[in-house]
Amino acid sequence: MENKQKLGFATRQIHVGKIKDASGALCTPIYQTSTFEFETVQQGGARFAGEEPGYIYSRLSNPSLTQAEEKLASLENGEAALAAASGMGAISAALWTSVVAGDEILASDTLYGCTFSLLCHGMTKFGVDTKFIDMVNLENFQKHLTPKTKVIYFETPCNPTLKILDIKAIAETVHKYNPSIRVIVDNTFCSPYLQRPLELGADVVVHSATKYINGHGDVIAGFIVGTAEFIGQCRTFGLKDMTGAVLSPFDAFLIARGLKTLDIRMERHCSNARKVAEFLYSHPAVDKVYYPGLPDFKGYEVARKQMKDFGGMLSIELKAGRDEVANALNSLRLCTIAVSLGDAETLVEHAASMTHSTYTPEELAAAGISEGLVRISVGLEDPDDIIADLKSVLDTLVS
Ligand code: PLP
Repeated sequence: MENKQKLGFATRQIHVGKIKDASGALCTPIYQTSTFEFETVQQGGARFAGEEPGYIYSRLSNPSLTQAEEKLASLENGEAALAAASGMGAISAALWTSVVAGDEILASDTLYGCTFSLLCHGMTKFGVDTKFIDMVNLENFQKHLTPKTKVIYFETPCNPTLKILDIKAIAETVHKYNPSIRVIVDNTFCSPYLQRPLELGADVVVHSATKYINGHGDVIAGFIVGTAEFIGQCRTFGLKDMTGAVLSPFDAFLIARGLKTLDIRMERHCSNARKVAEFLYSHPAVDKVYYPGLPDFKGYEVARKQMKDFGGMLSIELKAGRDEVANALNSLRLCTIAVSLGDAETLVEHAASMTHSTYTPEELAAAGISEGLVRISVGLEDPDDIIADLKSVLDTLVS
């Protein structure tokens, strides 16, 4: 498609990447194949040598994946994208492509549990150390930059406290110190509809496409977006050799289908979450609401600056004790007790015992994740029904 960036977001999420075949199919077919025929031995050799374009083997690329990758690259305003079999597959491929033993990563002190585990318990085994730092305080943060620093890694909003980090300010600080340090941002909570880190100075975006990108709770997938050079390295090394975490053609098809409605789904997630947050804020059983759209939330001003809207995620702390809260949540009828996020269904989870159970109690405290924190992924149902379900539970906690 010509002039991809000149077309609007909605047009690109639908049309970019589409492959027209002889049948005239409206939707790009699923290329359910593991390998691709070469006309000659010489052609196969030329493709392996990178002297001729064309598909080789589906762990490297496949037309169904190309379609989804082109859409996401265009929506994130990046040169190229690489699909992976999960968000963790994308994150680990991007990191393994960026570091060698002896290098150091500076990561945000609040991260999704498995990312924290990869950095804290996984990469350390191979001589790559990570320092976890509060990146709100830039003066303190920049003191940790050293000649060994190769990657800066963070989410914003952070999972699960919704802490907001200033992408532009962090990228400027890091690149002023050393332009070759790679700033990697996990944009899962926002999707490119709400926030585009590359436009704010980040070098690489990673996604759990399991969430808003797909949006229907039926696929595990991930993406890396960045320069064509870096994505090429991730494709031919980080993913091909280090993780092998390749997305299946069928899942890529579902992702491309989900992406076609990303903007309207995100608008509804945002407006529902705003209503739910306002309700929770005024409920007497609730002690604290973590939602970047509340004017007294610490990151409100930065969120307003770098996000189109405040997203569909929020967390709460309740005044009641952990067991009482757990028992009350068991009575939810519409909202579902489940991890994951960004689906049509409203999902409620207890971070300390579920998504962030990879943290020790001390690590949870350092990350500002309280033992009682309940995370809510506000879905696409009628907001009055979501609120009525939450109210029926919360009212039982008010004596
Ligand atoms: N990043 C964030 C912010 C997440 O919330 C998750 C999963 O919940 C991941 C990455 C990992 O994604 P996946 O489950 O697709 O591997």
